Amino acid sequence: MAETRHTRVLIIGSGPAGYTAGVYASRAMLEPILVQGIEPGGQLTTTTEVENWPGDTEVQGPDLMVRMQDHAKTMGCEIIGDIINDLDLSNRPFTATGDSGTVYTADAVILATGARAKWLGLPSEEKFKGFGVSACATCDGFFYRGQEIVVIGGGNTAVEEALFLTNFASKVTLIHRRDELRAEKILQDRLLKHEKIEPLWFHELEEVTGTDAPLGVEGVRVKNVKTGEITEIPCKGVFVAIGHAPANELVKDSLESHMGGYVVTKPGSTETSVPGVFAAGDLTDHIYRQAVTSAGMGCMAALDAERFLAEQD
Ligand SMILES: Cc1cc2nc3c(=O)[nH]c(=O)nc-3n(C[C@H](O)[C@H](O)[C@H](O)COP(=O)(O)OP(=O)(O)OC[C@H]3O[C@@H](n4cnc5c(N)ncnc54)[C@H](O)[C@@H]3O)c2cc1C
Repeated sequence: MAETRHTRVLIIGSGPAGYTAGVYASRAMLEPILVQGIEPGGQLTTTTEVENWPGDTEVQGPDLMVRMQDHAKTMGCEIIGDIINDLDLSNRPFTATGDSGTVYTADAVILATGARAKWLGLPSEEKFKGFGVSACATCDGFFYRGQEIVVIGGGNTAVEEALFLTNFASKVTLIHRRDELRAEKILQDRLLKHEKIEPLWFHELEEVTGTDAPLGVEGVRVKNVKTGEITEIPCKGVFVAIGHAPANELVKDSLESHMGGYVVTKPGSTETSVPGVFAAGDLTDHIYRQAVTSAGMGCMAALDAERFLAEQD
């Protein structure tokens, strides 16, 4: 028979937002349960060096997430390796059903299911991810000081990333399938006038090329979509900037969302459109998308949940 577990606070997700919520909710004596999901540790487990986590000049992403997990656990958070398949927010206590068959009931829920960068799906892109291929200019741009970089995409994300990367790169080539950008006009103007940026229209990425030992990018092979002609462009970094998608599957019909599915929270708070349900991290954030901002929101969510429960009591 399926087990049922009740908790004051159920935290869904084990990235920086979830684990930080776990630390704070535990220290508030709420005895939270945190369900880790399919990717224990979240997105940072897919990268190598992280240089912008305060207190660590350099830390490996997976190591940082093991430390966060240990921290939450030591404070008293129960961490469970399960995936939530269904979440019923229509009545309190809320009910979440795990892949394991366990049913979790909770007086408050903190959603921290994060987001995913969209990728092209090329084998060479996968091979060099974290070793020259990135989807986050804020995270990785600094590694390419004085180097040549390629950005793939033609929307707001690509144009913003390309402009940001000019702070570091000697040259940025923007590769786009069409000859016009989908980005806002003001961003387009800035991009087209920028001396370091060269757009390459009507091209798409065929392959990322590089060395195996050490693993690193040396260039890209791009195809002209009109003629089929292949061109090789030397570069050290490839930024795939074709958008992000929030992991909102559990709540897309039950919570208010905007900007392509990001969960709406009240300004200055993590309250969602359902009282007692709080959202933190990349699931709610289409702007900053950083570990430290996610952790900050995880803290806010735990404090908001604590206040909500105190008022109910
Ligand atoms: C390659 C890469 C490099 C990066 N580098 C940096 C960097 O250097 N510095 C920086 O600040 N940021 C970096 N980021 C961004 C940073 O990783 C994210 O902003 C941050 O991880 C978001 O945290 P989060 O807690 O919101 O969610 P995530 O880290 O996305 O975690 C989401 C969690 O939710 C869980 N989950 C999802 N669905 C379910 C479900 N149904 N049931 C249970 N659990 C579920 C997942 O298993 C996962 O544990 C990088 C991102 C990537 C992809």
